[in-house]
Amino acid sequence: MKGAPQGGSYDYIIVGNGAAGTSALRSLRSVDQAGSAAVVSAEPWPAYNRVSLAVYVAGEKTREELFTTNRSFYEDMGADTLLGRPAVHWDPRERLITLDDGVVLRYGKILVASGASPVFPAVPGLDGEGVAGLRCLADADALKEWTRRSERAVILGGGLVSLQTAEALSGMGLGVDLVVSSPNLLSRLLLPQAAEVLEGRFRDLGLRIHTGRDAVEFHRGADGTLTGVTLSDGSLLPCQVAVVGKGTTPNLSFALESGLPADCGIVVNDRLAAEPGGAFAAGDAAMAPDFVTGVPSANATWLNAVEQGKTAGLNMAGADVRYLGGVGANFDEFCGLPLTSFGLTAPREKDPGYRVYEFFDPKIPVYRRLVFQIGDGAGQGCLPAGGVAGGGRHAASSTPVARVAGAVLLGEVGDAGVLYQFFRGRHSVDLPNDPADLPGARRGARVERDSGAGDPGPWLAGRRLGPHDLPAWRFR
Ligand SMILES: Cc1cc2nc3c(=O)[nH]c(=O)nc-3n(C[C@H](O)[C@H](O)[C@H](O)COP(=O)(O)OP(=O)(O)OC[C@H]3O[C@@H](n4cnc5c(N)ncnc54)[C@H](O)[C@@H]3O)c2cc1C
Repeated sequence: MKGAPQGGSYDYIIVGNGAAGTSALRSLRSVDQAGSAAVVSAEPWPAYNRVSLAVYVAGEKTREELFTTNRSFYEDMGADTLLGRPAVHWDPRERLITLDDGVVLRYGKILVASGASPVFPAVPGLDGEGVAGLRCLADADALKEWTRRSERAVILGGGLVSLQTAEALSGMGLGVDLVVSSPNLLSRLLLPQAAEVLEGRFRDLGLRIHTGRDAVEFHRGADGTLTGVTLSDGSLLPCQVAVVGKGTTPNLSFALESGLPADCGIVVNDRLAAEPGGAFAAGDAAMAPDFVTGVPSANATWLNAVEQGKTAGLNMAGADVRYLGGVGANFDEFCGLPLTSFGLTAPREKDPGYRVYEFFDPKIPVYRRLVFQIGDGAGQGCLPAGGVAGGGRHAASSTPVARVAGAVLLGEVGDAGVLYQFFRGRHSVDLPNDPADLPGARRGARVERDSGAGDPGPWLAGRRLGPHDLPAWRFR
């Protein structure tokens, strides 16, 4: 195993030293121990766990505890490290990658695993000290420093990372204002009434939530320190620190002139290979086939990044391994309320191929959305007709054949693992005509919906079913 001199040529170059990049290096080496390899990264340190950045800011983990690799990992893997040296230009046809110091590297195969960065809205006063996204260790270090001398924080955006950050900063004793442009928290996952339950929990912690509003101006003192944020309704929120969580965009500025359509991520096939030859992509910088729809999609999670990196690494080294498909999934807990979501959670309303059941009881509290892919449609896209054992059969039956296509579970997640196995195993089930026979259904008030996640289907007013009911579902 040997490297090549800098500015020289490598059999394998991995651009990105995160979840996907390190996973690819490991799997690549499980097949090919001889080829020369280099890891290029914009950041100067070994790989670390981004998922834990909020708890690091809160002081619940040390910096050392974040690292998932150390220097000897790269030596053991026989890879040169070019850390703190971002790629700035990529010529996929000539198989050349240029680093920010002008060094040009030639490669046989390349993996683009450069992750994503926060999107910052164009709001006056945003640039400068006190305002950051929470995406990388440098962001977390800065936030840690700023929060030490702050009393109030404003968090823009109501996604999962923003909620993690809000809870962490509140736990540190800061007053937190959460500003969300949509009418509810997690509007794509939760029924508005269920979101209200979650919002209530956050308010109980002392957070102030401002839905349906945006920041229009950041204010700074004469010395440049952040003093507050004005919202679109004219209200002024005093703060000394602000965190922007308004979505991310793939780190692909170095690919702008590559000729590859890469504005939403590099499109790859089920081997994680891109056009032209020799190029692969994985993780947040890739658009890999979705597990449910088969359509190239950005499913930006840690697990997808690891799986995609693993598959890409094996294929780069000459294996022929197919990727099962990316899954949007979250297994989280906010203010003591567990929240699990996976798969297709909001099929388009017009799509007849899906049936959505929702159950909500604010008293417990519990919210469940179960999405099924129905009948012939269950055999389309990535899903094989007839399930794993069914050989493509869809028997004429009064009960439609279905597969679990996605779920959102808030409050009670005890059967999430079983549902996930049904989902990931693509097992066909007989969907009962009576929704009372659905797994995990329970008493719930009917809530009318005009739009949102498809036809909500019949509402349950029946007995509570739990995980023990699932085995009653017949495998086909
Ligand atoms: C605060 C936070 C909380 C999260 N919570 C969860 C969670 O609970 N569950 C979950 O599944 N996911 C979570 N995620 C998302 C998860 O961390 C990402 O999906 C995952 O890290 C993506 O892995 P990746 O390898 O694609 O990119 P990254 O891990 O982001 O790694 C990208 C690498 O590319 C490098 N790079 C960037 N630009 C260049 C360049 N031009 N040249 C060279 N190198 C470059 C970077 O320095 C880095 O080494 C969270 C993310 C954050 C930030």
